[in-house]
Amino acid sequence: MKQSLGLSPELHDYLVEHSVREPDLLRRLREETASMERSEMQIAPEQGAFMAMLVRILGARHTLEIGVFTGYSSLAVALALPEEGRITACDASEVYTSVARRYWREAGVSDKIDLRIGDATGTLERLLKEGRLRTYDFAFIDADKPSYDVYYEYALKLVREGGLIVLDNVLRNGRVLEPDSGDDSTTAMAALNEKIFADERVDVTMVPIGDGMTLARRRRNSTPAGAAQ
Ligand code: SAH
Ligand code: CA
Repeated sequence: MKQSLGLSPELHDYLVEHSVREPDLLRRLREETASMERSEMQIAPEQGAFMAMLVRILGARHTLEIGVFTGYSSLAVALALPEEGRITACDASEVYTSVARRYWREAGVSDKIDLRIGDATGTLERLLKEGRLRTYDFAFIDADKPSYDVYYEYALKLVREGGLIVLDNVLRNGRVLEPDSGDDSTTAMAALNEKIFADERVDVTMVPIGDGMTLARRRRNSTPAGAAQ
């Protein structure tokens, strides 16, 4: 299981055991994914619970996910959505998402999830053309790190005022402290962290859960730069 930064393994276990009510299906998905290559890409269980909480607090009905993998985060969100809730899920891989589709089916949430296979940038552009501007309540960005900035800009267009954009892996396992050490993903993430921190279009908070998550809440369009709201 992935460890949150700054917690001893014992304390991390305690946190999970005393807060994560992981449904059996999510547990099985996590266990199946653990035997796959690149399983470390999956979010930690406490992150799934955290996202489910955010979706409930927001009263979200339309959510966007960029980076599905085997479906843990999308299933955690789907189980927290109301009956009429919908997820637009973007991923480039048929192979990874075939696992996700199997679990969505078993959970009875397949009809809630519109899976779009292909490069996410193309999919996001298409969503705008389909009239989805400002229609999402929540967006989760968890795909290729060098494209995060592009995804963030699309997400800002696609979420409504007050909508929430969540970005995963913003601490890069601590590597953001040395942004120029030759890893493109880390360099890109560090630059985006700087940008979002200074971005007047959003309220921002960074949470040390899993590998670090940033929450960026879209402010109103008309507000002059720097104005409190
Ligand atoms: N949120 C997932 C983990 C995502 S891992 C979970 O909770 O388990 C990152 C995913 O991004 C991979 O499935 C990969 O196929 C996808 N990805 C990488 N580059 C992409 C791109 N350019 N467009 C769409 N998806 C991409
Ligand atoms: Ca991730």
